[in-house]
Amino acid sequence: MLGQMMTQPLLISSLIKHADCYHGQTEIVSVETDGTVTETNWSEVSTNARKLASSLTALGLEPQARIGTLAWNNRRHLEIYYGTSGAGFVCHTINPRLFPEQLTYIINHAQDRVLFFDATFIPLVAALHSHLTEVQHFVLMGQRNEDAIAQVPGVQFYDEFIETGDAGFDWPSFDENTASSLCYTSGTTGNPKGVLYSHRSTVLHSFGSNTRDVIGFSAMDVVLPVVPMFHVNAWGSPYACAMSGSRMVLPGPDLHGEALVKLIDTYGVTLAMGVPTIWQGLLAYAQESGSKLETLERTVIGGAACPPSMIETFREVYGVDTIHAWGMSEMSPLGTANHPLSKHAKLPIEAQHKLRESQGRPCYGVELKIVDDDGNELPRDGETQGDLMVRGPWVLDSYFQMQGQDLLQDGWFATGDVATLDADGYMTIRDRSKDIIKSGGEWISSVELENIAVAHPKLATAAVIGVPHPKWDERPLLVAVKADGAEPSEEELLAFFDGKIAKWQVPDKVVFVDALPLNATGKVLKRNLRVDFEDALTG
Ligand code: AMP
Repeated sequence: MLGQMMTQPLLISSLIKHADCYHGQTEIVSVETDGTVTETNWSEVSTNARKLASSLTALGLEPQARIGTLAWNNRRHLEIYYGTSGAGFVCHTINPRLFPEQLTYIINHAQDRVLFFDATFIPLVAALHSHLTEVQHFVLMGQRNEDAIAQVPGVQFYDEFIETGDAGFDWPSFDENTASSLCYTSGTTGNPKGVLYSHRSTVLHSFGSNTRDVIGFSAMDVVLPVVPMFHVNAWGSPYACAMSGSRMVLPGPDLHGEALVKLIDTYGVTLAMGVPTIWQGLLAYAQESGSKLETLERTVIGGAACPPSMIETFREVYGVDTIHAWGMSEMSPLGTANHPLSKHAKLPIEAQHKLRESQGRPCYGVELKIVDDDGNELPRDGETQGDLMVRGPWVLDSYFQMQGQDLLQDGWFATGDVATLDADGYMTIRDRSKDIIKSGGEWISSVELENIAVAHPKLATAAVIGVPHPKWDERPLLVAVKADGAEPSEEELLAFFDGKIAKWQVPDKVVFVDALPLNATGKVLKRNLRVDFEDALTG
């Protein structure tokens, strides 16, 4: 033996243990579902997480049992993150904005045994209750609540549920490759697919995001994750902030500009994270109210392309540095972040600003390449665009319960994005090969909408594309070809979506064309349609 280092597994419990031990008194501000604000700290989060872990363990669930959450960003959700994974269960965060049928599918597919939910979702859970065949315990995240008792059979209450738990619960040790959390992503075809993160991938991702040229959370930071904890684990911030001992401000359900500006100003937020749509509202309110966002130093913007004008407003008006970042659910999510290199300091200031607009360069732990249709690597010249491929220890290998599907290509994951790369690794997203529509940071499957539209008797065929929208980034536009001799109206086509999908997914508008442009294999050339109808909602 030449000697070597300890083989300690990388476990999520180590993050909360660290935060408890060295940052115990560091505050966590939580806006509760009813709008009241609670101030807690990492020590109390740790204690409640241990109690929760103990109560869950006492239920006799199988190892890696899935525990679902339908919840906003708040302290109980944070405790659930640690209490579930730390005890060896899987924290399954569910996007409550999905259509009830999708929610039923996801919760049953994941085989969630326990479902924690915020008071906002009492009616939703009441409606889903009889369809959720796998859930054994429904737990409202709060105190005893008469509404919940009246609507959700057998409901339990989080505060009572953890009360009997053991605050001295010992975090168990196990293989670092054990599953820790689960998040479903809706693709263009078929049902939503689950991305299953492991303890190892989560801890490594936290190290990665904590490097200075990615996000680099600090014990000096007050972090406001506006990105929901049901969307790729709020970009990993609940884990990375425990690692760095940052203060956190969890904003609850109200993500309007006014509420966010008040949180920033009241609690001295230094670092905020979210999708571009969120910041539009925030900037509008800051301007209206005259807030200078005095304490805010950095914003991490991703999930959709950040408009250069937004980066400029943050910089010029508020002195805030924007970190434009790119990633995806399948990547935990961080892939790239835009920070300058030392050589850029010599460039004229305009050129330096221009460089900050792209999605940035990969952090250690993520490898990128672009390829052509045959999988050949394309040059990193900043001009050639190709399918973006990734690999790394926090990148998906196979979807939940879909092993053996041969997802990877020579060990690389195809992101579905089309991008350019330059010699320094700066990446620019050009398009999404899957044509998914991003509305306010949420996904809308164009295929799902098309499947509904083409079922209308007065339509021959139809395509749905995302077109620019001043508030929501993109909204769906239905491009329709009338059936022979039929004269459908826009109203009746849009009404046809009622009850089939969530209201916010219904297209904003219909345009009629004589025929859809098709490629050689008969697929609709959506890129052409996007060019033709670019101004449909803005012009
Ligand atoms: P999700 O898995 O919901 O996080 O969505 C991931 C997808 O969002 C990526 O594959 C991209 O298409 C898109 N995306 C994420 N960040 C950015 C960004 N900064 N610029 C452009 N598109 C982005």
